[in-house]
Amino acid sequence: MSDAYRAALERAYTLALDFHGLRAQRRPAATASFDALRAALNGPTPTDGMAPAEVIEQLAEGVEAGLMGGAGPRYFAKVTGGSHPVGVAADWLTSIWGQNSGSYLGSPANAVVEQIAAAWLLDLLSLPPECSIGFTTGATMASFVCLAAARSEVLRKVGWDVDAQGLFGAPPIDVCLGNDAHATIFAALRYLGLGHDRVIRIPTDDTGRMQAGALSTALASCGGPLIVIGQAGQINTGAFDPFNEIADLVHCHGGWLHVDGAFGLWARSCPALLHLTEGIEQADSWATDGHKWLQMPYDCGYAIVRDAHAHRRAMAYEASYLPAAGGECREPFHYVPELSRRARGFATWALIRALGRSGIAAMIEQHCALARRMAQRLASEAGVEIGNPVELNQFVVQFGTGLPPPQRDQLTRAVIGHVQAAGVCYVGEASWRERVVMRFSVISWATTEADIDRSAESIIAAWRAVGAGVTAASEITPGSTA
Ligand SMILES: *Cc1c(COP(=O)(O)O)cnc(C)c1O
Repeated sequence: MSDAYRAALERAYTLALDFHGLRAQRRPAATASFDALRAALNGPTPTDGMAPAEVIEQLAEGVEAGLMGGAGPRYFAKVTGGSHPVGVAADWLTSIWGQNSGSYLGSPANAVVEQIAAAWLLDLLSLPPECSIGFTTGATMASFVCLAAARSEVLRKVGWDVDAQGLFGAPPIDVCLGNDAHATIFAALRYLGLGHDRVIRIPTDDTGRMQAGALSTALASCGGPLIVIGQAGQINTGAFDPFNEIADLVHCHGGWLHVDGAFGLWARSCPALLHLTEGIEQADSWATDGHKWLQMPYDCGYAIVRDAHAHRRAMAYEASYLPAAGGECREPFHYVPELSRRARGFATWALIRALGRSGIAAMIEQHCALARRMAQRLASEAGVEIGNPVELNQFVVQFGTGLPPPQRDQLTRAVIGHVQAAGVCYVGEASWRERVVMRFSVISWATTEADIDRSAESIIAAWRAVGAGVTAASEITPGSTA
């Protein structure tokens, strides 16, 4: 290796260790403006090259103030994992190894490690061992893959080969989903030619759980090929659909049940939470993320399909330059849309190996306990209302209990602004049941009880500052969101 390249790698290594070491001290959100960020790295297209280590230095310096604190302990705004150092270490090697992980012959090491990691995942999630798994970029693409398999199978059963003939002239498919399904499901349906509006929306309860009675009513008027999409872990409340009832209904109608379990599916790996997911094992496919509760570095999701034939029928193809390795060798590209792609098996293998079944269960249980701790701290403050029972790691909060809804929205927005400006923790705004809420999610390996307590103090201080002027709501000024 030339000395210059070695210097760049060493500089990146040192910068990475420094960043990791400071993760708890850093502000949890970007501080630079759009203009400042652009100014830091923009310029005419470079004509001449630059020394490799200097490039790395400039990149790190230029982006520093624009980095969010997702890898730190007090980032609660989104359901995102914390890029665990063991996964990152394996990911560094993945990059330097430069494996094209599409086919077995492209990287025997990756193909075998994915196969092993897939079996471990099924075991951890207590899903049927015959399922096949595709290693995708995230849960959006995992649902896309699963729903492609679903589309293939429900049409095959009525004598239509959608993979060969497409949807032109095909019998119509009924697609049912809960009214509080994640936005990315609609995107996946769109990519598949199923349309994001051509769906039957099933009413949900207060926490976003699909109502089985309403599904039953809807299915009574569905006669043809059927796909039903359930949810494990609603993005605001963490709620789980009643899978026992739903699975029975769907299968009585000869349909395919897919589950979006981007983060919630991981409750399966935790004995204390397993009851929430009861019946989910009866589904036909499941999408989940590696980069959420498993703490994988971006990007990583898993498309899990019970019927491996349907999975391959929807995804696999042949090409003369892709000779099959044959035998028991698994071809990674038979289960995902991409051919050339990142080898996600290595980091998955490393994280599961490092945490173990007990470590994963303990982490998930701890996150739920920390979410309850935060909810209790906030609920004990007058004027603060937690919007859902905290069964998992997620909840929504509104400020200004008893005031008219528009005023509560305004106050909640102002509290979020104050918390962001204080910079102790990072929380964001969401919309739930037509109200502005602060959504709170505990899902990083790095978060401790002390982080929750410090953050609770910051949020309560923000509410006291904002709520002090509550008698005249018009005087309340939102905090800066710098
Ligand atoms: C995050 C999330 C998704 C999308 O996952 P990506 O990994 O961002 O593609 C889908 N559904 C739910 C419930 C989620 O929380």
